[in-house]
Amino acid sequence: MLKTRIYLDNAATTKISDSVFEAMLPWLKEGYGNASSIYSLGRESAIELNKARAKCAEALGCEPREIFFTGGGSESDNWAIKSTAHALAKKGKKHLITSVFEHHAVLHCMESLEKEGFEVTYLPVYDNGIVKVEDVKNAIREDTALVSIMYANNEIGTIQPIAEIGAVCREKGVYFHTDAVQAVGNVHINVTEQNIDMLSLSGHKIHAPKGVGLLYVNKKIRLAPYIEGGAQESGRRAGTENLAGIVGLAVALTEAEAGIDAKN
Ligand SMILES: *Cc1c(COP(=O)(O)O)cnc(C)c1O
Repeated sequence: MLKTRIYLDNAATTKISDSVFEAMLPWLKEGYGNASSIYSLGRESAIELNKARAKCAEALGCEPREIFFTGGGSESDNWAIKSTAHALAKKGKKHLITSVFEHHAVLHCMESLEKEGFEVTYLPVYDNGIVKVEDVKNAIREDTALVSIMYANNEIGTIQPIAEIGAVCREKGVYFHTDAVQAVGNVHINVTEQNIDMLSLSGHKIHAPKGVGLLYVNKKIRLAPYIEGGAQESGRRAGTENLAGIVGLAVALTEAEAGIDAKN
């Protein structure tokens, strides 16, 4: 562990930054209260949780109530895709659209839904690694429930025309999810301006710890819980909140957004 290393795989994971670490520490030590408890130690955690939610909402251009903290990018992808698919299947919509080079957290969800009887269209990404907006438009059918196209690819880094794809989905009345795990800190994300209905993020790709992420869900969508139990996250994602991780994620996301212009 003490050898000098040069690490070149930030697409696989990143080191926790000093500012993230410092922000998390008090919530690992003194601030261990359960945000659902009514006495002061718990209240302090609940207040900090709200602050972190507001920070994330500001960074993404949405309302705090549209942010749901999760256990990472994979969970966010699974939740968005499976809960949307199952809800809309009840209305006869059993067709999904994605691209051939999504992360496994998306591709494997699609495959398991295919086994349940859903039909999935896998759009090509051509020589330039980019999905054509026209292809999305042409693939949308009467029974399409969801389009899920990643924002930036984790292997070749290409950025997809997300706002345009979102606009097509809006026009056709189809929900649009994007896995933006690799896009944060590289392109400015604004879910409102970019017509995004659901967006997945992961902490450990942007200098926050592993095991924490978020799913943005547009307030018009009432996504059924994926993890059931307690009333945390407005009753939509059960489980005592990983407050220190969430605080770290909020700092990392704010810094990633702020650092984009310096990078480019
Ligand atoms: C890393 C990654 C994920 C998975 O996130 P975890 O927090 O590790 O579950 C999902 N999508 C993309 C594009 C990723 O790079």
